[in-house]
Amino acid sequence: MPYQPSVAIIGAGISGLTCGTALKGMVPHLKVFEKSIFPGGRVSQFRAGEFEFNHGAQYFTINNPLFHNIVSAWQADNIVRPWDAWIVEVQKGQVSNTDMATQRFTGYPRMMVMAENLTRNCDVVYSSNVCEMERQVDGGWRLFNERGDYLGAFDVVILATAAHETAILASQIPQLRDKAESVEMTVCWSGMFAFEHRLNLPYDAAYVLDSPLTWICRDQQAGSVSQSDCWVLHASPEWSQRYVASFRGRVMHALLDAFWEDTDIPEQQPVSASVHCWKHAVPINPIGEDSLFIDSIGIGACGDWCTAPRIEGAVLSGFSMADRVMKHLRNFQE
Ligand SMILES: Cc1cc2nc3c(=O)[nH]c(=O)nc-3n(C[C@H](O)[C@H](O)[C@H](O)COP(=O)(O)OP(=O)(O)OC[C@H]3O[C@@H](n4cnc5c(N)ncnc54)[C@H](O)[C@@H]3O)c2cc1C
Repeated sequence: MPYQPSVAIIGAGISGLTCGTALKGMVPHLKVFEKSIFPGGRVSQFRAGEFEFNHGAQYFTINNPLFHNIVSAWQADNIVRPWDAWIVEVQKGQVSNTDMATQRFTGYPRMMVMAENLTRNCDVVYSSNVCEMERQVDGGWRLFNERGDYLGAFDVVILATAAHETAILASQIPQLRDKAESVEMTVCWSGMFAFEHRLNLPYDAAYVLDSPLTWICRDQQAGSVSQSDCWVLHASPEWSQRYVASFRGRVMHALLDAFWEDTDIPEQQPVSASVHCWKHAVPINPIGEDSLFIDSIGIGACGDWCTAPRIEGAVLSGFSMADRVMKHLRNFQE
């Protein structure tokens, strides 16, 4: 029987799932370990009672031709659509039009669908928080979760986690740890509000200037079971950092106060109000390499912190990682 290599990917965000999908069919034994109970990482959604908000990335753009082809395939599968929303700039109630030329896309009907679709190609083990990687004398890695439970042995391990998580997992591997540690991430408080009656705001989303908020967006699918008007608010990195340790209730009121002041419309009591703090939202200084891989010990890392701080960056990094794993396995077999 020919040698059948095994690969573990840690993290079922967009980069890990892209890598897994690209390796599908090439690697017979491939497992993706995800600490959460669902896939997507920073494109996942937030459930608040009957509402489900896109509380992380709200849309994406395309710069790279390879990513363009991937998005075309996603469009053909009807999991992504162009987002022809009316997006403005708002400053203390003053509305002005913003760049109308950029083509934006969203997952359809939710951002998370992109990740869910990718999981069809991968064997994902959820609620699996990988905490320890043990190098074997004869090559390969043994993985363990936070309780010390054994998760399996693999020839190759890919860390598809955010930079700070990669730095912890790779604490014994300076070539990965040091690069991951050098990356700083922004903080982002995200507010999710549902109102019983439609707010008198004609636009779909706005970049907000001169405010604790930077972005407000109507989330049309969040309350699809009811007729509510749902909005997601993102606070600026500076404001979020200042309030990172604050009580949720305090942040919730501060975000809502800023929203009324910025939009200058009559206040309404929300029927649902939640906040989430992304303590590691987007990388400020990605390392500028598509992905990292150490051939001698069969371990690599990918994610937006390698390439660019957006979904496109995560996808391209995942592809680059898969390419390097294939080359490694070919050399290994020869
Ligand atoms: C508030 C916000 C707004 C954004 N806005 C935009 C935008 O408008 N446009 C855009 O293109 N991008 C945007 N982004 C960025 C985009 O979401 C990310 O670039 C992209 O999703 C990163 O994917 P990733 O796979 O690199 O990492 P992640 O999505 O972070 O995936 C990593 C995964 O690894 C899992 N994990 C971590 N540690 C472990 C472990 N020890 N064991 C098992 N699993 C583990 C995590 O649970 C997670 O699922 C935004 C992000 C945020 C937070």
